[in-house]
Amino acid sequence: MTVRAVHHLNCATMCPIAGFLLGGDSWRGRMVAHCLLVETERDGLVLIDTGFGTRDIEGRTGISRSFRALTGPALSHAETAIEQVKALGYQPEDVKHIVITHLDLDHAGGIGDFPHAKVHLHAREHAAAMARTNLRERERYLPAHWAHGPKWEVYAEDGDTWRGLPAVTKLRGVDGDIGILPMHGHTRGHSAVIVKSGERWLVHAGDAYFHRNSIEGNAKVPFGFLAFERATEMIPAARRASVAALRQLAATYRDLDLFCAHDEREYAALAGRA
Ligand SMILES: [Zn+2]
Repeated sequence: MTVRAVHHLNCATMCPIAGFLLGGDSWRGRMVAHCLLVETERDGLVLIDTGFGTRDIEGRTGISRSFRALTGPALSHAETAIEQVKALGYQPEDVKHIVITHLDLDHAGGIGDFPHAKVHLHAREHAAAMARTNLRERERYLPAHWAHGPKWEVYAEDGDTWRGLPAVTKLRGVDGDIGILPMHGHTRGHSAVIVKSGERWLVHAGDAYFHRNSIEGNAKVPFGFLAFERATEMIPAARRASVAALRQLAATYRDLDLFCAHDEREYAALAGRA
């Protein structure tokens, strides 16, 4: 077994406007940035998604005023991955690898706090974030997050599959069951990240969806989340196909825990169990 333990971290609380439209009971909603810190036997710590980083908290990465007004990020040092890594008794240098669902600002901010770590992601996401070809991509991707020049490890589908879906199941230099499951649409190269922990698989679906009702049961997704999903998607048909594939996964397999980045209840359930 190569994965020793998995910690669930919230690396960015956000209190978006229109909480009532997000299924909440106040004007401000509450979202988390669910990240994983994976202890491996051979390859140190692997961080999956990174929330906001130190330089975001200090106002040095160019997070726009409109983003802050809309999403109400707490921007707290204590929530950064680096501070939580230290609180667990590790050194920042122990984080050898970062696997990222996509490079949106609320997922990539912490990369700069681990400048020695390799950053693994889908090739299409890397290309989209480096090119920033349109206004929406210039707003969502902040080059300050990778100004230190990380060691990128990029991947494309190579015929490999996981549970019948195209997947990258071997990451270079990582001898654990950690892989990338392309779930494009929210961004051009957005992907889920899979991790085997004990007998179960964790499926970090990133921003493929925003509210648990997108996956489970028949209850409605609050209108505000649907509106937000549409407003932020780059390839609508691909995003819908990704959600359908995730629903299918959840309905078919009993040995996996599927969650998205921002659902507070999914986070509480898994963090409480771990
Ligand atoms: Zn996000």
